[in-house]
Amino acid sequence: MAKTRKVVIVGAGISGLACAYEILQQADQRQLPLELTVLEKDPVVGGKIRTTYDDPYTVEGGPDCFILEKPWALALVRELGMEEELVNTSSAASGTYIYSRGRLHRLPDGLIMMIPTKILPFAASPLISWPGKIRMGLDLFIPRRREDGDESLASFVTRRLGREALDKIAEPLVGGIHAGNPDNMSLLSTFPRFLEMERQAGSLIRGMFQRQKAMAAARRQRPPSSAPPRTFFISLRRGLAQLTEALAERIGREKILTGTEVVELKKTVRSGYRLRTADGRRLAADAVVLAGEAFASARLLAPWQPELAALLEEIPYVSSTIVSLVFARRDIPRPLDTYGFIVPRVEGRRIMATTWSSVKWPHRAPADKLLMRTFVGGAQQPHLAELDDREITLMVLEELRDIIGITGSPEQVWINRWPRGMPQYILGHPRRLEQLEAREKQLPGLYLTGAGYRGIGIPDCINNGRQAGKKVVAAL
Ligand SMILES: Cc1cc2nc3c(=O)[nH]c(=O)nc-3n(C[C@H](O)[C@H](O)[C@H](O)COP(=O)(O)OP(=O)(O)OC[C@H]3O[C@@H](n4cnc5c(N)ncnc54)[C@H](O)[C@@H]3O)c2cc1C
Repeated sequence: MAKTRKVVIVGAGISGLACAYEILQQADQRQLPLELTVLEKDPVVGGKIRTTYDDPYTVEGGPDCFILEKPWALALVRELGMEEELVNTSSAASGTYIYSRGRLHRLPDGLIMMIPTKILPFAASPLISWPGKIRMGLDLFIPRRREDGDESLASFVTRRLGREALDKIAEPLVGGIHAGNPDNMSLLSTFPRFLEMERQAGSLIRGMFQRQKAMAAARRQRPPSSAPPRTFFISLRRGLAQLTEALAERIGREKILTGTEVVELKKTVRSGYRLRTADGRRLAADAVVLAGEAFASARLLAPWQPELAALLEEIPYVSSTIVSLVFARRDIPRPLDTYGFIVPRVEGRRIMATTWSSVKWPHRAPADKLLMRTFVGGAQQPHLAELDDREITLMVLEELRDIIGITGSPEQVWINRWPRGMPQYILGHPRRLEQLEAREKQLPGLYLTGAGYRGIGIPDCINNGRQAGKKVVAAL
């Protein structure tokens, strides 16, 4: 009988849980006796996925949806038998507003990410000035960049579409996904598809048209499906914690120790590792997966792998806070016909964006209430994320009164803080990943996974966590 192999995963966010799930599946398929333990410092599983059920409200404290375009989250939901729980964004609204010069402007129809694909709605929109529109159109004629390699989001967008497109659309819409600063965001690590479009089609607008044509052709060839139609963003009926809770159930709660911080990791003389937790537990492992934030993994490696730890420390994280508020609908003096609004940094306001959550997901609040989430902080204004609860709520209220003319007071408030919560893929990230991988290979049995490396979105975290899980079992 084969010896039982011991695997420890540090961190029960979606990356660590997806990794654990895959390890158990692989071990099962190979009939490999395996003892798996997941250690999580927080009292609950899920990491940044944090849903609060405060009847009659369902409040997302972190992410509130995932994209379908990257298939790994949907695939996992299906494997867990939860497809019936998926919810589309409401069809009663669509798109977003962008705040500019004291007004909210609807993002013109046909604007995909930052690329115009429909001429008339784009021409008619007052969001971008005429010189700005003409400059965006020049994308069709500007030659592609000669040099290979990385470029910042700001440099790329300014080069192809002009400064106004960067300030009013790309920075809040595209950069906002990472709560990042476009001046130092690595395009290669965040939106490589834009670079590819330029390389292949010579223009973003042409590249987007070609992509849409190819997608339409693929759709026509696909056999008719009985599956219900899905929107670009989807979620789960009771919030995203439904996914992490279901994963924890499938893995087996007894294998997951919450409220258990790993404070020491050592390599043993023989091939293997030893871990110590803050509450004095000691664990031995043949393989260890570090699935926490890069800086948290760095702390465990610094005493004996200082170079690897230094590389991990180089990945910056920014802080943000989400303030969720409930208002009576009658206090909102405007139509709620989008999912919310975003605020470009050039506007000099103190909030990044607001989502009208119960417009996007109507079942999350009673019909006569509006549940909304406002994002504060990020790379541009990290200090604002640190205001205390009272100050931050007052500040958000002042901004909302000014921007959407909200009256009345919120009926309920929830505040979710994410200090150093969002990794930043800054220029040099691809080279850093290569160096990290090279060092990881020198440490058999040690694996790194998580949002800090190859994708921050939930589908990427799931995919990368599962890939790490496959590698763990293959090497045991
Ligand atoms: C505010 C916000 C909104 C977002 N919105 C979206 C969205 O709408 N859609 C989307 O797809 N993505 C979104 N994201 C990104 C996505 O949610 C995260 O990138 C993803 O959930 C990260 O998962 P993870 O498992 O890699 O890391 P985490 O969720 O950070 O999990 C890591 C875990 O490791 C634990 N840990 C660390 N060190 C130790 C230790 N020494 N011992 C024990 N445990 C340890 C931590 O406590 C944590 O629970 C958002 C992120 C944030 C912060």
